[in-house]
Amino acid sequence: MSSILNSFNNIFASSDENLLKASEIIKNGGLVAFPTETVYGLGANGLNSIAVAKIFSVKNRPSFNPLILHIDSVSSLELFTTFHSEKVLKLVDKFWPGPITLVLPKKALVPEIVTAGNSTVAIRIPNNEIALKLIKISGVPIAAPSANSFGMLSPTTAIHVANQLKDKIDFILDGGKCSVGLESTIVEFSNDKFVLLREGGISSEEIEEFLGEKLNRKISEKNPNSPGQLKSHYAPKKTIFFIDEVEISNFNKDKTAIICFSDDKKYSDFPFRKILSNKADFSEAAANLFFFLHELESENVDFILAEKIPEIGLGKAIMDRLTKAVNHYR
Ligand code: AMP
Ligand code: MG
Repeated sequence: MSSILNSFNNIFASSDENLLKASEIIKNGGLVAFPTETVYGLGANGLNSIAVAKIFSVKNRPSFNPLILHIDSVSSLELFTTFHSEKVLKLVDKFWPGPITLVLPKKALVPEIVTAGNSTVAIRIPNNEIALKLIKISGVPIAAPSANSFGMLSPTTAIHVANQLKDKIDFILDGGKCSVGLESTIVEFSNDKFVLLREGGISSEEIEEFLGEKLNRKISEKNPNSPGQLKSHYAPKKTIFFIDEVEISNFNKDKTAIICFSDDKKYSDFPFRKILSNKADFSEAAANLFFFLHELESENVDFILAEKIPEIGLGKAIMDRLTKAVNHYR
């Protein structure tokens, strides 16, 4: 087993041999960071409370913040949740594996620490071969939040994980850059209705179109069970503002980065200008958002100014993440 990058002795290529080692760590109650299509996860055996407790400690995550259980087949859904609805099965058949998490009533074997004492559990099948293999050979559901320190940028490469968690984690499986790059959409099913808890990698419009009904909305920063809904989150270390909320002439061009949606030639006199998608494609923009913010954290700039993104499709989730980052500095 060898590290692929000399400077990080905890990043490992996702070979069969290393996947086997990773699964042994999970089975023995340890932590493994692994790629998913959304962001990198910090995983533990989701049925082992002590292992799961380590996730909270490494991340500095408040214990009232429940985790998502990652499974590898729809048949596992029945092991961990109770639901009596064809509608749920229809939805997961359509979107799994993929970036949509369902919140359903939990069965007793799911530990309280995973659900932060809730009677419901969040669960999904990730659309990433490495993640799916790891879950399969570990033989347990893997509880995993994003593999970063609480409140900071979510990691979309193995190096992002290593830079943030450093020696607090021994084993990071490298799977390249995450294809979606934003956390999953979270939908709760209760009283025969779907309720949107968080915008994410599948747009609420797409889900509504498939279901043929509107999702109820319960997006409230006051709900302590859902820190994904906190007003401030996902913050880069550099101060970030929305461009239209500041006087741009007050900022030194050489010390201020710009994040814009597409290449409309605006702000091209700023040397640190990042374009989320040259062709104004929301999926590409989503995949680049955290990636660019990570890059800018290590550039010699003092400020990041972000353009607002049209709130259509995945634009809603991108604006949700940007707004939470900006709120950190408001
Ligand atoms: P993440 O922090 O991206 O791993 O996503 C976890 C998020 O899922 C939490 O912050 C909550 O917002 C949400 N979540 C997880 N479990 C539940 C649950 N049982 N009820 C409501 N929301 C949940
Ligand atoms: Mg997170």
